Amino acid sequence: MTDSRGFVSLIGAGPGDPGLLTLAGAEALAAADVVVYDYLANPALLAHARPEAEQIYVGKKAGQHTLSQEEINALLVERARAGQRLARLKGGDPFVFGRGGEEALALVEAGLPFEVIPGVTSAVAAPAYAGIPVTHRGLSSSFAVITGHEDPAKEESAIDWPHLATAVDTLVFLMGVGNLPKIVDQLSAHGRPPETPVALVRWGTMPDQQTVSGTLADIVARVEAAGLRPPAVAVVGLVAGLRQQLRWFEDRRLFGQRVLVTRTREQASVLSARLRALGAEAIELPTIRIAPPADWRELDRAIAALPDYDWIVFTSTNGVAYFWQRLLAAGQDARALHGIRLATIGPATAAALKGCGLQAEVVPDEYVAEAVAAGLGAVRGQRVLLPRADIARPALAELLREAGAEVIEVSAYRTLQPKTDPAELRATLARVTVATFTSSSTVRNLATMAREAGLDLGQALAQATIACIGPITAGTAREEGLPVHVVADEYTIDGLVEALVQDLPARLEV
Ligand code: SAH
Repeated sequence: MTDSRGFVSLIGAGPGDPGLLTLAGAEALAAADVVVYDYLANPALLAHARPEAEQIYVGKKAGQHTLSQEEINALLVERARAGQRLARLKGGDPFVFGRGGEEALALVEAGLPFEVIPGVTSAVAAPAYAGIPVTHRGLSSSFAVITGHEDPAKEESAIDWPHLATAVDTLVFLMGVGNLPKIVDQLSAHGRPPETPVALVRWGTMPDQQTVSGTLADIVARVEAAGLRPPAVAVVGLVAGLRQQLRWFEDRRLFGQRVLVTRTREQASVLSARLRALGAEAIELPTIRIAPPADWRELDRAIAALPDYDWIVFTSTNGVAYFWQRLLAAGQDARALHGIRLATIGPATAAALKGCGLQAEVVPDEYVAEAVAAGLGAVRGQRVLLPRADIARPALAELLREAGAEVIEVSAYRTLQPKTDPAELRATLARVTVATFTSSSTVRNLATMAREAGLDLGQALAQATIACIGPITAGTAREEGLPVHVVADEYTIDGLVEALVQDLPARLEV
């Protein structure tokens, strides 16, 4: 008996860039009980699945299959029969050299329902990200996608080389890196001119995309000299020459940079998205875990006494979030803040407040305590509530007290150190070309994490450019033995990104 819920979505994961998953693919992932994925499907796409969905990696990297195709087919049938909803995520398009047809046939034989969600194939997308259109008016009016996996020298080749070599304008070979010399021999032997442009694109659409260009006559030597390894697509035809004018992805300002993002996971996304848009790989390494305070009493007492306060100064989005959560938990809402003046440090905190239907009247341009204190104006005799982390810089409270205010500090949340695996941390830091720090605590926490893993942070990041959001963070970085190369002029995420774009090329030329 089959459970009526059992269902398999064969989903094209796209070529690698997580933005190239289709909307239908994302929806099917979100609905799945089980996600079955392989080597070419970007694991970042698993973020679309429910956290409780089971994830099964089935490998399929050339030469090291984790499960055989028959075992994968059997797995899909078994799980769907048990009534589970499966997302079978396959690199590129499932029906372009993806063996998706075989998986679908196995499901048909077992009488199980399925759907096919096409994906963006690497055969078209990898060339596109290298600046190569597979067709182009006047240069190419046809293209073919061919397996390069088959040894062209074998007697009964399934590929009709004599016809293929010249019948189609653009030839795109998948799985062809190992056989490239033989492919080139066949094409040359069957009439493709030696000056035909050829390009190989490795890990197309990904931050580490690599392209090697040449002609049929010299591409083998060039690929060898570059040490290019799979996975790559090979494009043969006049269109490959358009790359000289049309390359765009590899020319992005931060292309090739592997940038460490050290904010909490919840906050990292904004910076990571900005970096990715500029062509960088964002490596997220949370150095802070945000948790509720050990005890709510302090914050609850402050909330119960809200009418006593003249000002509330929010110093972080976390402070806003936890304050708001407790306010609602106490059966209150924004009306409880009636008559209280509100200030935030930074526009992100102001935006968080706005999300609660509240406008901050003081949002200083500068993210240092002096600017905030100045923004509040005359505070003599006023009562100022500061909901903040359990550990916070005392500067702001001191300045306000010096100005005659009565300052009540309450801890609204705690910052904890996340657990990390020493070997993983070591490997991550070794890959980094730029390390970004957006607060003193991220520097301190990363240094502690490194020490606990038996590493010296300065040494582990010796190859990296160190970029800090502002002078205070930079000071902390220097105290921790890091040479600071880039400091933002404007102490925001945008300012930090802008500083990297401005300063990094100059630094790389040195
Ligand atoms: N179904 C996939 C192809 C699977 S066959 C698709 O439609 O893209 C595996 C081959 O695809 C690899 O050997 C390589 O030639 C190619 N490939 C997949 N992703 C790639 C990428 N990001 N960059 C370059 N080639 C890629």
